[in-house]
Amino acid sequence: MTASAAPSAPVVTRFAPSPTGYLHLGHAHSALAGWRAARSAGGRFLLRIEDIDPQRCRPEFDAAIREDLAWLGLDWDGPVRRQSEHPDDYRAALARLRALGVLYPCFCSRKEIQEEIARAGHAPHLTPTAAGGAPGPEGPLYPGTCRRLDPGEAQARLAEGRPHAWRLDIARALELTGPLCWHDRERGMQTAVPGILGDVVLARRDTPTSYHLSVTVDDHLQGVTLVTRGVDLFEATHVHRLLQALLGLAVPEYHHHGLLTNAAGERLSKRDGAKALRALRAEGWTPAAVRTLAGFPD
Ligand code: GLU
Repeated sequence: MTASAAPSAPVVTRFAPSPTGYLHLGHAHSALAGWRAARSAGGRFLLRIEDIDPQRCRPEFDAAIREDLAWLGLDWDGPVRRQSEHPDDYRAALARLRALGVLYPCFCSRKEIQEEIARAGHAPHLTPTAAGGAPGPEGPLYPGTCRRLDPGEAQARLAEGRPHAWRLDIARALELTGPLCWHDRERGMQTAVPGILGDVVLARRDTPTSYHLSVTVDDHLQGVTLVTRGVDLFEATHVHRLLQALLGLAVPEYHHHGLLTNAAGERLSKRDGAKALRALRAEGWTPAAVRTLAGFPD
């Protein structure tokens, strides 16, 4: 149950934004946390652009990320990894998981899943696993409908070309790996609870990978030893730990940092109009003042 990189390993951290909007103060906090952790240990700081979702990502935000980070005074080592340029890495990982027998095709639409969850609420016997339809940190968990599908029927639907996603059969995967743990710098050693998000989707027809799969594969391929990211992704790490065990990947240490909040105590997000770094810059804020505002005074 090795759960963290050897203490003598050089520190490699990363900032991995999705180019779906301009960076705001919350992003600055996250980038600074990774940058400071690397630089204070004489380590490396990497930049990765997580642009697997073609519907939401825009090249102008990709360019703006690099410009805003440089303005903030952050530099990064080596080339920027752009996830959209590495579909083969994710495809290979997916094929490996399929060969292990831990993936199943899911043909459910969002509406069908909601209906199944509502039905299960009235008839608990329809959900043979405790997790099915139960509330999870990101909403009700997938009720497992297609996990129970007859394999012949699943094959027939695939042959027909029916739209589908590939889900991770968590219970089956855990049978292969046994118990797992990981280490968070703030909360200490954690026993992995990979079922916390249910049977997560690892690939869809329009995006042949997912956040969970690509982030885990990339952290390994880039030699990341310390994953610094917001505490909103704490639960996701339980799933990533399982993927690492299944795929034989290195296990980094984690630092899930707190999230910046507004005056009302709500988490900053671009959806709620959190101020973009470039807006602050246009108002005359200096990089040093913005670093302080983001929780990292010089
Ligand atoms: N791309 C993710 C985001 O922008 C962050 C992924 C991570 O740090 O693991 O929310």
